[in-house]
Amino acid sequence: MIYKNIVCPLCGCLCDDIEVVTENGRVADVKNACAFSKSKFLNHAKDRAKPRIKKNGKLVEVPIEEALDEAAEVLKKADFPLIYGLSSTETDAQRLAVELAELIGASIDNTSSVCHGPTIQAAQDCGAAKCTLGEVKNRADLVIFWGCNPAEAHIKHATRYSITPRGLYTESGKKGREIMHMDVRETKTSKMANIFVKVEPGQDYELLSAFRAVLKGYDGGDVAGVPSETIKQLAEKMKSCKFGVIFFGLGLTMTGGKHMNINAALRLVRDLNDHTKFAIIPMRGHYNVSGANDVMTWCTGYPYAVNFSKGYPVYNPGEFSAVDILARGECDAALIIASDPVAHFPAQASKHLAKIPTIVIDPKISLTSLIAKIVIPSAIAGIECDGTAYRMDGIPLRLRKVIDSEFLPDREILKKIIEKVKA
Ligand code: SF4
Repeated sequence: MIYKNIVCPLCGCLCDDIEVVTENGRVADVKNACAFSKSKFLNHAKDRAKPRIKKNGKLVEVPIEEALDEAAEVLKKADFPLIYGLSSTETDAQRLAVELAELIGASIDNTSSVCHGPTIQAAQDCGAAKCTLGEVKNRADLVIFWGCNPAEAHIKHATRYSITPRGLYTESGKKGREIMHMDVRETKTSKMANIFVKVEPGQDYELLSAFRAVLKGYDGGDVAGVPSETIKQLAEKMKSCKFGVIFFGLGLTMTGGKHMNINAALRLVRDLNDHTKFAIIPMRGHYNVSGANDVMTWCTGYPYAVNFSKGYPVYNPGEFSAVDILARGECDAALIIASDPVAHFPAQASKHLAKIPTIVIDPKISLTSLIAKIVIPSAIAGIECDGTAYRMDGIPLRLRKVIDSEFLPDREILKKIIEKVKA
């Protein structure tokens, strides 16, 4: 069977031009995909989790209903449960996770608290001039990558949206675009750019502010290792383009200053709009982390780090974000969905997950599932079940099912847990 125009459930590019060939209930071939995507589709059947419960210190396989019953019991008994993850599943599952959090008075957080949470905080402070990736493809003649490395993290970004594609008003493709890369080190992305600007580590805020100062007619001298003359020339290029865009990543969000770096970037883009048309787009990592923020916002009014212990949603990153709750040892049970915090969180936070009854819903065996008390396997959204995901620019796309699965989708698992908690 050949499936065309399949959406890739891996990174925030959410490429929707993938061709998948299936044979005998397995993915046999994948076309138009990058290496990461190919690996996800072709290896979907490898390292699958099984329903397991920890008994006498060992994870033993149990019937799925027993794992679901036990998960509901743990969540019912908990005084301060935490629900975390959500960025690698579809929006119906995300909505049900919020419903469950409200039901049990949990804190609920998604992976944006360790990636683009500061981006959201900055936009809440000063707004953001955004656009879609389609507008970039069709209009952008100046593309700036700041603190990100799409050549290695969002592999098809350059060819589908930002560097080489020929669009309505960008008929000459790469030739008609100026590409700048601002980063602390040269990467494969620098090699795709016309201009690479090496920024002193930790001084992005200063450099962004220096561009704003130059736009307002001031000269702040050399900043962040970049000569004053270069700053002026680059500011002139930004002012004189027809349509500019900044793509930025964890080099801004997760370095000193965090949301203040993004604040400076958003304000630079706002200032540039006094001269020309400029927009800014975060390079979102997981394929549906944008959806996690959107779904939590529709349901609670807030994008992440929400607490329901008072019976209504309270938002406070730093207080109700998963790393902080875990590092302070506050929660007494955790439900992890479509995420592997033990592989990514600081040791102190991971240690607490190992101490408390942790429930993991995930298609694959992960480091978190190895320390969990209960493991519930699920179908892979976008391969084994359908759903909706939101691209890095906020555009929703429909994930399709290409393979039948013995496992339940995350949304069915969450529905069952909700019914059991209510019973
Ligand atoms: S760039 Fe991202 S969305 Fe596109 S095929 Fe590769 S992993 Fe999938």
